[in-house]
Amino acid sequence: MSSPHAVDHVIIGSGFAGLCAAIKLQEDGETDFVVLEKAGEVGGTWRDNTYPGAACDVPSQLYSYSFAEHDWPSSYSPQPDIQAYTQRVAAESGTLDRFVFDTPVTDAVWDESAQRWSVHTPAGVWTARFLVVAAGALEEPKVPDLEGLDTFQGQVFHSARWDHDVDLAGKRIAVVGTGASAIQIIPELQKVAARLDVYQRTAPWVIPRNDRAYSGLERLALRRVPGLRRLYRTALYWSHEAYVPAFTLQPKIAAPARALALKNIEKGISDPALRDKVTPRFAFGCKRVLRSNTYYPALAADNTEVVTERIAKVTGDAVVTEDGTEREIDVLVVATGFHTTDLPIAEHITGRSGRTLADTWRRTGMAAYKGTTVPGFPNLFMLVGPNTGQGHTSMIFIIESQVAYLRDALRTVRRRGLDAVEPTQEATDRWNRSLQRRMRHTVWTTGGCDSWYLDDHGRNTVLWPRTTADFRRRLASFDQEAYV
Ligand code: NAP
Repeated sequence: MSSPHAVDHVIIGSGFAGLCAAIKLQEDGETDFVVLEKAGEVGGTWRDNTYPGAACDVPSQLYSYSFAEHDWPSSYSPQPDIQAYTQRVAAESGTLDRFVFDTPVTDAVWDESAQRWSVHTPAGVWTARFLVVAAGALEEPKVPDLEGLDTFQGQVFHSARWDHDVDLAGKRIAVVGTGASAIQIIPELQKVAARLDVYQRTAPWVIPRNDRAYSGLERLALRRVPGLRRLYRTALYWSHEAYVPAFTLQPKIAAPARALALKNIEKGISDPALRDKVTPRFAFGCKRVLRSNTYYPALAADNTEVVTERIAKVTGDAVVTEDGTEREIDVLVVATGFHTTDLPIAEHITGRSGRTLADTWRRTGMAAYKGTTVPGFPNLFMLVGPNTGQGHTSMIFIIESQVAYLRDALRTVRRRGLDAVEPTQEATDRWNRSLQRRMRHTVWTTGGCDSWYLDDHGRNTVLWPRTTADFRRRLASFDQEAYV
C-alpha cells in the first residue's frame, strides 16, 4: 500500500457545507487541504436528488451563499439550477484541484500519538491535523421495512436514487410517503401515470409555494441596483425568521399560516371526504411545513387515489393494505426520507478512546458542542451537526456560521501553538441541557406528531430551537475556555 498523503485538513463531502469550508479555508491561506467526495462531481443532496419536480422550498435568493451572489431565473430554484450554481461557485473558487472525486471515506481514526486523523478510502490514506465532516444530514436513504418489498417484480426505487431509465408514461405507479420529497414528485407523476396510488401515513401541512420566473426587469434590477440583492435577501431572511417564535414559543402565533394551509386544501380539492383525509391532525409546524401549489390538485385528479390504510405487504405486482385491498402496480417509489438521527458517517469516525461517534451517541442520542465539536474527538469539526437543522429557512446560513467558527478555531490554534482542541464534557453537557430544556416547549415536541427530528429516545437532536441569528451570534468567535 502506498504511503499516506499528509495534509493539514481533510474535508469529507463537497455539498454546500464542504464547498463552503474549502473556499473559506483557502481565503485564510489554509491551502493544504483535500476534499474527499464519494461521487464523481461536486454537490451533496442537491446532486443526488434528481427526482421529477425536485426544487427548493426556500427562496433562491436565500438558498445561496452570502459571498457568491447569483442571477437566479426564478424565485424558487429547481434542482438543476441549484446544482449548476454549486458547480459554478466551485469552478470559480479555484479550489477544485484539491477535490478528490469517487473517493468515499470508509473510516477516519484519531491517532493520539501522532495527533492526527488517519482518513481511509479505497484510493489510499490521508492523514490530517483537522477533520471537517461535511457529509450531510440527508444523505443515506431510509428504505421502509415493508414485508415482501424484495419480491416486487416491477421497478422500485427511493426518491433520492431516482431511476431515470424507467419510462413512467402510462404506468400504474405507487408512491409511499407524503413528505417534502413526495409532495414534489406526486404532481409530476400524476401528469404521466395511468394510475397513481399515494400511500399517506400522516397528512402534512402544506402552504402555497408561490414560485415564478423573475421578469427581465427584476433580474436586471437585482444585478445592477447597488445593494438591492442584499436588501431583498435580508427581507426574505427576516420574513422566514418570523416563524421561529411560533415553532419554539407559542404555536398559536402560527394561526395565519395554518389558515393558509387549510385554504390551500380547500382550493386544491373539492371533495369533502378527500379534504378530510389530507387534513393534518397535529399542530402546524410539528413536522416540517411543506410548500406546494400543485400537490392538492394532483391528489384530487381522477387518476390519483390517496390510500390511508396501512400497507400490509408488497407482492410481486401489487401493494396490499391491511384491509386486504390489493392495488396492482408497475412502479413503486419510496419517498420515505433519510437516516437523520442515526447518521451513517458516525459509525466510521473513531476518536481518542477508540470509540466511534456512533458508540458515543448510542446511549443518549446525538449531541455536540455548538453542533460542531465533540468531546473525545480532537480537531474534529462537524458541519450540519447535531441540533443545527432548520425547517423554516436556509441551511446555508447555518453552514456559513459554522464555517466562521471553524476558521476562528484554526486561527486560535495556530496563534497559541496548540496541537489539538476538543470541547470539555462539561461545556458540551451545559450546551445540550440548555438546548433540550428549550426543546421541551417547542411545537416539535408538544405538537402531537412523530417526526424524523426525534430519535429513538424521543429527543429532538436535529433542529436548532432558536433563531438562526442567535446561532450565528453564539458561534461568532471560538470560545477557547470551553475547550481543552
Ligand atoms: P420525510 O420528510 O422524512 O418524509 C418521509 C415520508 O415517508 C413521510 O410521509 C413518512 O410518513 C413516510 N414514511 C416513512 N416510512 C414509511 C413507511 N414505512 N410506511 C409508510 N410511510 C412511510 O422525507 P423526505 O420527503 O425525503 O424529506 C426529508 C427532508 O428533506 C425534508 O424534511 C427536508 O428537510 C428535505 N427536503 C427539502 C426539500 C426542499 O424543498 N428544500 C425538498 C425535499 C426534501 P410519516 O410522516 O407518517 O412518518
